[in-house]
Amino acid sequence: MPPDPTPPVPVELRLRDLRPTTSPVEVVGRVVTFERREITRKSDGGRRPLASGLISDGTATVRFTWWDPPREEIDRGTVLRIVGAEVREFRGRAEITINWKSRVGPASEAELPRVDGDDIPFRTVREIGPGSEGFRVEVRVVRAGSKTVTVGEERRVVHEGLLADRTGAVAFSAWSDFGLKAGEAVRIAGAYVRAFRGRPQLVLDERATVVRVDGAGLPEAAELFRAPPRSIATVEDEGGGEAVAVEGLVVGLLPPSGLVYRCPTCRRSVTSGLCRVHGQVEGQADLRARIVLDDGTGALTVNAGRAETEQLWGVTLEEARARLREQPDPSLLEEQLYESLLGRRLRVRGTGTKDDFGITIVPETVERVDLDLDSTAEELSARLGGAR
Ligand SMILES: [Zn+2]
Repeated sequence: MPPDPTPPVPVELRLRDLRPTTSPVEVVGRVVTFERREITRKSDGGRRPLASGLISDGTATVRFTWWDPPREEIDRGTVLRIVGAEVREFRGRAEITINWKSRVGPASEAELPRVDGDDIPFRTVREIGPGSEGFRVEVRVVRAGSKTVTVGEERRVVHEGLLADRTGAVAFSAWSDFGLKAGEAVRIAGAYVRAFRGRPQLVLDERATVVRVDGAGLPEAAELFRAPPRSIATVEDEGGGEAVAVEGLVVGLLPPSGLVYRCPTCRRSVTSGLCRVHGQVEGQADLRARIVLDDGTGALTVNAGRAETEQLWGVTLEEARARLREQPDPSLLEEQLYESLLGRRLRVRGTGTKDDFGITIVPETVERVDLDLDSTAEELSARLGGAR
């Protein structure tokens, strides 16, 4: 009998370099999607567990098929080292198969391949979407800030904001501080895009690099918020956006609007003294208005917070509470708010997201537009000029 051939030693490859002829391979990648199912064996009708999904290493994203995966939960974002995977090609794209001959174990972010900034193509903001990676962008920082969030037991600071080029704007988030400041122009390499609340979001992890550039050719931050309003139908078709501007008439107000009470911990609205996460709480008074805006092509919801509601209504939170003490019926307050808003023409700018109920805008600014002939004529010509 001939001796067993020495098993081939897997070669560690970047996902971008996978070719069907190079198997078996060793790869390190982050789990982007992971779905379990079962296949019925033809031979004996038995069930065999299988997982499939996408894995990414910053240079490419490839589909994997994993026979008999472990029972433990594998979360999105987990970094895995896979030794001895087989590479196949399906519809012209490389895919990997993980089977009994493969070894899979956890790996750290640092083991992911370095993405060389000079080695990857430039993309515009319009060209990137969820799943995009292995690209560079040159963008203006429109807005940047940080907030503290609770992840499990841990309090962490997340840096977030808005980036834009001539083709559009995209939100970003980062766990580490790249020191991004509003107004500056940067070249970002090695970031990836995920979907967050239905919108693309550029994620800068520790492998991302940020270089300051002169920004010639990039729009100024203020320009983004001066762009003329677009029709609600267009905004709806595009699924919202990061710097949406619309103009329309107030045709309705959705509950809860007016004086509301919020949980002091999570800011969710409190009904009968109960937060649905924190139980019995002392609700804190707040003002809001969920405005239905219609421009003739469609309608959307504007989620106005306290500042915008006070500004539009001309009644402060304190005044609203005083009114409620005199007339303890909150529905009367809501009615007064509604009467003061109904039929008003508003120009709203902010972030638009789409769900089953349509578009909702969280406004950056809300302006009253007074219907005088001069501004209407000006607006008309601006729209005709913008239509091209
Ligand atoms: Zn709460």
